[in-house]
Amino acid sequence: MEIWRVNARRRSLLREATPKSWEKFGGRGLVARIMRDETPPTCDPLGPRNKLIFAPGLLVGHMLSSCDRISVGGKSPLTGGIKESNAGGRTGLHLTHLGIKALIIEDRPEDDELQIMVMSTDGISFEPAADVLGKGVYAAAEILISRYGKNTAIALIGPGGERKLSSAGIQNIDKDRSPSRIAARGGLGAVMASKGLKAIVIDKSGGEKPDIVDPAAFRSARKRYTEALMSHPQTRVYNDYGTAAMTMMASGFGALPTRNFSTGEFEGAERISGEMMRDMLLERAGDAQTSHACMAGCTIKCSNVFADDQGAGIVSPLEYETIGLLGSNLGIDSLDAIAGMNWIVNDLGLDSIEIGAALGVAAEAGVWEFGDEHRAMELLEEIRQGTPLGLVLGHGAAVTGRVLGVSKVPVVKGQAMSAYEPRAIKGTGVTYATSPQGADHTAGLTIRAKVDHLDPTIQTDISRSAQINMAGYDSLGVCSFGSFGFAVAPDAVRDLLNARYGWDSGDDILQKLGRTALTLEREFNSLAGFTSADDRIPEWMTIEPLAPHNAVFDVSDEELDSIFDWIS
Ligand code: SF4
Repeated sequence: MEIWRVNARRRSLLREATPKSWEKFGGRGLVARIMRDETPPTCDPLGPRNKLIFAPGLLVGHMLSSCDRISVGGKSPLTGGIKESNAGGRTGLHLTHLGIKALIIEDRPEDDELQIMVMSTDGISFEPAADVLGKGVYAAAEILISRYGKNTAIALIGPGGERKLSSAGIQNIDKDRSPSRIAARGGLGAVMASKGLKAIVIDKSGGEKPDIVDPAAFRSARKRYTEALMSHPQTRVYNDYGTAAMTMMASGFGALPTRNFSTGEFEGAERISGEMMRDMLLERAGDAQTSHACMAGCTIKCSNVFADDQGAGIVSPLEYETIGLLGSNLGIDSLDAIAGMNWIVNDLGLDSIEIGAALGVAAEAGVWEFGDEHRAMELLEEIRQGTPLGLVLGHGAAVTGRVLGVSKVPVVKGQAMSAYEPRAIKGTGVTYATSPQGADHTAGLTIRAKVDHLDPTIQTDISRSAQINMAGYDSLGVCSFGSFGFAVAPDAVRDLLNARYGWDSGDDILQKLGRTALTLEREFNSLAGFTSADDRIPEWMTIEPLAPHNAVFDVSDEELDSIFDWIS
């Protein structure tokens, strides 16, 4: 496998053998390794010294169920710290089939012109992007697919990325060529724009699947993993309801963010639930699908296609985090309205969590009324038009709070919280507070732990374990729901890696990968100027009780500071 190093100023490519010291890294871990080895932690996120990295996980390339994710990373313009954001779709698989261990995009062009970078077995070429500039990702992807072929993979930014908004992500086309698989968090779409790129097109024709050192052992481990995944009860739940199954679960814990995180219970929860969505989609038929895969080979199929009452597709997928942040957090109880908003946010190439939180803060400031879905849509269109208010919202919840004078802003390290209230699910609050990534449920969600989620004394151990595991899975390229299979067949991680690479990893390989990634990320952030003061939940959440449990976030500072206890 090679490292492809692109100089964005010269628009040139250097193909290098993977350095020995990077061989055992992949995905999130490889992003962290490269950032520590090559990127000055104090660099300007949109400047020439930052790097934009695409790194497939260690298990990517074989269409193992839910294991072909791409990690995208760099220094975040939103948090000012290290950022890894991963996505499904085709990008990871296609890069791997070109033999690419990591794509590193360096420097920045002298002008602000955005171009299209085309990758193939021949190397790279740059082409004009004039006909897709300013276009939303849906229209732009259609043009690019018709030009470069329907078998390509495409990673692209929307108008939000072009404006270098801090909530801009990088959209990746899925197996059905919809540009809806976003590496959403932390503003990496703005970093891509700073490198002069509107889109990266990957043509894997002539490429090959990665070599496997011991194919028989790989097949055996694959079988055990797939069987474990298929027999896991959560696989059925996610297949039937998608991530929207979490709406009623979070509501049951009093953890459904509602009206700018002011309460954990929402009177309209059932109307935005996975159960309601399933019934609607089955009745609407047409384009509607209750179950859909974002990547070839996924057996869980947690995705869906949400269709209107005529059966015409609106958006795919409609997920719980979007339902929480654009729905209950804004006092909106209509799945149709949330799906319409989701389409706009996707088309702009923005993170629906960050935008939902920013709109919640704006409602708190009196800019609009919670529950007014029409005004919410207008505000999203203001982001598209680039009005002053639209630009403020597009830079995320923290900037919106500062500009509008709101102190109740649900962020950590400048990044908005996901749809799990940290005062009700305190282990996830510990993850929000301490993750080097900023507030992010995918860094270590604890809601499934069979514990008292309100007891502040037991949450650090639970969050630590979840953070290590997730950093491990993110290094493998495994979707968080693929982890259900590895939880039942833990030996399969070791056996798949050893069979593919000829390693002799032990039983603790997942934890080793996770700890190493977290250690490197903490080092980067520390050198960028982060201290323990950055590992805290906003003060108002430690003072203001949350209904229905009247809970505050009260995990002690000592507990929070002990989370990464293996790092001296
Ligand atoms: S479980 Fe869902 S997110 Fe994960 S790979 Fe399958 S469709 Fe994609």
